Amino acid sequence: MKFIDLRSDTVTQPTDEMRQAMANAEVGDDVYNDDPTVNMLQELAAKKVGKEAALFVPSGTFGNQLALLTHARRGQEVIIGKNNHIVVHEVGAAAVIPGVQLRTLETINGAMDPKQVEKAIRSDDIHEPETGLICVENAHGCGSVVSVENLMEIKNIAEKHSIPVHLDGARIFNAATSLNVDAKDITACADSVMFCLSKGLAAPVGSILAGDKKFIDRARKNRKLMGGGMRQAGILAAAGIIALEKMTLRLNDDHENAKYFAEELSKLNGVTVKKDRLDIDMIFFEMGEDIIQEKLLIEKLFEKNIKISGKEDGEYRFVTHVGVTKEDIDFVINSIKELM
Ligand SMILES: *Cc1c(COP(=O)(O)O)cnc(C)c1O
Repeated sequence: MKFIDLRSDTVTQPTDEMRQAMANAEVGDDVYNDDPTVNMLQELAAKKVGKEAALFVPSGTFGNQLALLTHARRGQEVIIGKNNHIVVHEVGAAAVIPGVQLRTLETINGAMDPKQVEKAIRSDDIHEPETGLICVENAHGCGSVVSVENLMEIKNIAEKHSIPVHLDGARIFNAATSLNVDAKDITACADSVMFCLSKGLAAPVGSILAGDKKFIDRARKNRKLMGGGMRQAGILAAAGIIALEKMTLRLNDDHENAKYFAEELSKLNGVTVKKDRLDIDMIFFEMGEDIIQEKLLIEKLFEKNIKISGKEDGEYRFVTHVGVTKEDIDFVINSIKELM
């Protein structure tokens, strides 16, 4: 049964070409560096984000936590936006796996104020924790893209204090598409970057952690420690190669569809679309319980084969992706109108 699934871009299915490539992938034991398809993906990924080396990891959360574990020591402090994925959506892993303390700062549309970042860096007072890392996120999960200028300012401050920067770039290619720059222009603002192959890029599983060779060599060992040595992972990497080569080229379609969706939603009485956070494939909006009750909306749309998530912080989030067409959007809009 076909569903129009607006819950996330993580629901994307591998393309037919990916399934073919997966079936035919040449594989080996990747813990011995023997998987030619994983090696090919890692080389391609490193090139795409302008880093010396890259490592295939099971998920975005895994890649971020691996970055924290590899950059920072236990008990060190990580400066990070208070609504970043690592803070809100990784189950508190930063306390469990790398054992770091998160120093959270306010963000405006996903961006930290560089002046606040500099102020948050600890002195060498005997009582204070050491600042071990600064984390930024782009595209940000709030739907916004952060400017290269903002990230570069933070990177310059970090360099002045000899602190590394990690970029949670789960949707780095969405950010690059939205800013109309090369992904490398964004990743130049960070020492390491994690990005997902499994979201808008439609690969079934996997993310990449990239950085300089020394960092990736250490991350490789830490990946094994975390249980992420994956043996014949070329089956998965084969889909990742197609995700990088082909699916990065079509993300603008998702962004255009999101803008169209937002425009149509904002025509409905009682709907407030967050238009200042409409940079990628996500639409955030408010619609009061007096218009349609949340529970009813979810149930009635489901009866029409439309899947949506409930509100988070009072906002609905719809996400466009390769499985959502303009006709699908019209169908959803009409279905909501009927309920009204
Ligand atoms: C999805 C996401 C992640 C984590 O990816 P998973 O593969 O779901 O673990 C990390 N950061 C951001 C910003 C994300 O959107």
